Amino acid sequence: MKIGLFGGTFNPIHYGHLRVAEEVREAFLLDKILFIPAGIPPLKKYDILQPMHRLKMTELAVKDNPFFEVSDFEAKQKKPSYTINTLTHLKKLYQNDTLFFIMGIDAFLELKSWHRYEELLRMVDFIVMSRPGFDSLQNYELIEDEEAENCFKIKNSDKKAFFISVFPFWISSTQIRKMIQNGKTIRYLVPEEVREYIEKNKLYRE
Ligand code: ATP
Repeated sequence: MKIGLFGGTFNPIHYGHLRVAEEVREAFLLDKILFIPAGIPPLKKYDILQPMHRLKMTELAVKDNPFFEVSDFEAKQKKPSYTINTLTHLKKLYQNDTLFFIMGIDAFLELKSWHRYEELLRMVDFIVMSRPGFDSLQNYELIEDEEAENCFKIKNSDKKAFFISVFPFWISSTQIRKMIQNGKTIRYLVPEEVREYIEKNKLYRE
């Protein structure tokens, strides 16, 4: 099987995440996309919602898509969750499958700040999605020149980064949190069950 691993804080998950994952699945003929809500993220400094709420919302958001699944591996960890540990775990779990790590270009361009990023870049191939407002992969220090159209060799690694231009969504979780704080509706930006979950649990109000 070809499996895409899609990590994120998903704080909360929104239609941008879902739509780009669907496009990646179709373009790369993936059999499954595993959404992996982060536990206590080492990098995001603001007060982040408890992992269990983010996990639950991600489950609600993907439940109607037979190709989408959610991993609770990071959300259930007590310590900060580093992607390198998650990938080590998932590579063992899916040893007969081909894994791709899916990221938006904003996240990929920040990869140098991740824990043990050099090892990470040697573990799996990456699928890097366009995102409005962010630069291209040209001249990015972690990759070599384009080998074939939208396919870049990662430096000091035998892995590749495949770039995909996805439908541009200007949505971000940050914007959604701000809208809630300002008393604005978030209907049609997140799946309805996610919106109801946020409302019922009075999340992101302060
Ligand atoms: P925040 O605003 O809190 O930083 P976010 O909307 O960027 O959140 P994350 O959970 O941090 O969401 O994102 C998880 C992954 O999804 C990242 O790799 C990010 O680049 C990607 N992503 C999020 N939103 C989009 C979007 N609209 N288009 C393309 N990629 C996206």
